[in-house]
Amino acid sequence: MRTTTVEDNLNVSELFIGAYARLYAYTGILVVLAMILVMSVRLFASRKRKAYLSLTVSIVVFIAHYAAMIGLSLSGATSGWGDLAAQTLLIVAFITINRAIYQLYNSTKKRHHLYFYLSLLTAAALAAFRLNVRFLFDGPPELLDTLGRIGGDLYLLLLVFVFFIAIPNQIGSRHAYMSGLAIFFMSHLAHLINHYMLEEPAVALTLTELYAPLFYYFILFVLLFERIVELMQASYRTAITDGLTGLYNRRFLLSKTEQYIRYGYTVSVLFSDIDNFKKLNDTKGHQAGDEALKDVARIMMEEAEEIGLAGRFGGEEMVVLVTDSSLNMAKFCEKVRARIEAEAGVTVSIGFSKSGANVTAEQLIAQADQAMYKAKTTGKNKVVKYTAGKGAAVKT
Ligand code: GH3
Ligand code: MG
Ligand code: MG
Repeated sequence: MRTTTVEDNLNVSELFIGAYARLYAYTGILVVLAMILVMSVRLFASRKRKAYLSLTVSIVVFIAHYAAMIGLSLSGATSGWGDLAAQTLLIVAFITINRAIYQLYNSTKKRHHLYFYLSLLTAAALAAFRLNVRFLFDGPPELLDTLGRIGGDLYLLLLVFVFFIAIPNQIGSRHAYMSGLAIFFMSHLAHLINHYMLEEPAVALTLTELYAPLFYYFILFVLLFERIVELMQASYRTAITDGLTGLYNRRFLLSKTEQYIRYGYTVSVLFSDIDNFKKLNDTKGHQAGDEALKDVARIMMEEAEEIGLAGRFGGEEMVVLVTDSSLNMAKFCEKVRARIEAEAGVTVSIGFSKSGANVTAEQLIAQADQAMYKAKTTGKNKVVKYTAGKGAAVKT
């Protein structure tokens, strides 16, 4: 058991690369890993994606690796079971984390399961080799120890190269990922030079070996955080938009209309329905129908850009919730109708209505729908304003 004195604590190299420094570095890493672990466990609990499982497993294995490293630092051991465990855990964790990152962006193919298990098997084979090296070869224990250990260390180096080539093109945040790998590579290279090429570890290399991983895990954290925010945004978008047209869906539009009315804003609703759409589907096919829908939706979206929100209310019924109360609705609706006629290869019948006292969101939309119906029954391809009781044609 070593004892520390005040002089010891003031010794700079002791401060940064001594036994205590190791503990501090590992503790820092464990804190970052714990943060990632909490994130990944919660994600896996809420949605059972494979990527989150791989992530959780890899972080647990990383933590086990650093627990082993701390054990080794405390005991002062440099080889033996603990070291073998630490090395193998690091390789397994490194393989698994890279698989997790890949899975965050891609669905796993059969082939990738094969690569994954093969790479784990290789790690196991190298561990077995290290365990049995003294039975396989004769020589001084130190040499045998090095021989047993170097396989795993070179394998890790090889993995860095393989991942560097295979993964960045398959994922987002590729620069962050590549920087992470580069840092991991530096740290591992420093380790290799220190252990295999130098008599005495060099201070700069020990520093790199100890602290570079901290940056690696930090980058990992940022990378995962970014991806998770992205996924959450994407799932939010999917929940409120329509897949075909990209317009807001009925539920979202209705809730927005309710919100505006609840807060006392005057809003208007444009309700449109494509004319003779069934016929278009029947004569030119469903595909052509979809294309027309997308064209109409794009025009609606462009026109709604600064004055409100455009949504798909049903099959070929689209709605614009107009929140700009100064807008001349009759003119606006006519502009939309004319653009669609000119650009989309179809025509629409449009009805519109303005919110008033005691009108609910549903009623407001129903009124616009009613006016649209009036446009349908009086010749189509026109705009009708809702008026209580009846709908009056604005333009034919
Ligand atoms: P009207 O002028 O009276 O509106 O006649 P219409 O043929 O448009 O009649 P209606 O509004 O009842 O027809 C709706 C048709 O829209 C039925 C369906 O085939 C088509 N439709 C609904 N959703 C989609 C879609 O997502 N893609 C395609 N291609 N067609 C759709
Ligand atoms: Mg319809
Ligand atoms: Mg129609």
